[in-house]
Amino acid sequence: MTVPTITLNDGNQIPQLGFGVYLVEPDQAERIVSDALEIGYRHIDTAKLYENEDGVGRAVAKSGIPREDIWITTKLWNDDQGKDKAPAAFERSLDKLGLDYVDLYLIHWPKPGQGTFVETWQVFEEIKASGRAKSIGVSNFQPHHLEELFRHSETVPSINQIELHPRLIQQENRDFARRHGIAIESWGPLGQGKYPLLDLPEITSAAEAHGVTPAQVVIRWHLQHGLIVFPKTNSAERAKTNFDVFGFELTDAEMAAIDGLDDGTRGGPDPDTF
Ligand code: NAD
Repeated sequence: MTVPTITLNDGNQIPQLGFGVYLVEPDQAERIVSDALEIGYRHIDTAKLYENEDGVGRAVAKSGIPREDIWITTKLWNDDQGKDKAPAAFERSLDKLGLDYVDLYLIHWPKPGQGTFVETWQVFEEIKASGRAKSIGVSNFQPHHLEELFRHSETVPSINQIELHPRLIQQENRDFARRHGIAIESWGPLGQGKYPLLDLPEITSAAEAHGVTPAQVVIRWHLQHGLIVFPKTNSAERAKTNFDVFGFELTDAEMAAIDGLDDGTRGGPDPDTF
């Protein structure tokens, strides 16, 4: 199965479907990521916060898959922002992963009250120039945080990774990103199991029509919107079906019905106050 790629504003190509490892226990990460690589995933989304970078790294090393064929994203945690702490935090992430470079490094949250994301971005520009992060981006940034970044830097983030699912379709943030050439990644793409997204009739009826599961419908909805998506599961069975989403296509009417579920529900924190 060849997963489509999205070409970023720096020319790099990211697999549009990947595997997320938030809340994957550190001692389970190696096994779960090994299973994902075996299934065919070639894009893993981790973070310093998840405390499983070393398990991810071991799975990559043991897989025998050429390094250049796997996309690895990690993220800088909030209390490591700033020009004094960020360089060492990046080194620690690389060490834990056992890698010479990551494909994507993200500022995990803007933390506007901290006032450090601009100088952190300057560190990210240096890391990218060194070749040890092939692409750099942000996460949980609202358009006004990005505008603040633009006032101080000419490097436009390649990615903004935001909470995005049928209850929170983030139209304004997506439109802003499109205008500025920023690709959007959807975190919590299945709603994190926090509300009964997968039981909603707009989703179950599409699943029945195509003979697939509700989760496959929702993943397909992300892909058809051009979003980058990496659902998480500890189950190899679910990982397999979540990856099997290229044999059907949602109709325009099904896409529109799912778009209509948007009610602005956030499962996660508000980026302005968190
Ligand atoms: P998700 O929406 O991927 O949901 C995961 C939940 O869905 C799990 O409880 C899992 O058991 C369930 N699930 C998975 N496959 C299923 C299936 N086929 N059928 C039924 N249920 C299924 O939530 P997430 O893990 O929070 O988000 C995905 C990834 O996004 C994370 O693993 C992480 O990499 C990233 N993330 C980033 C941030 C951020 O602030 N940047 C925040 C949260 C998550």
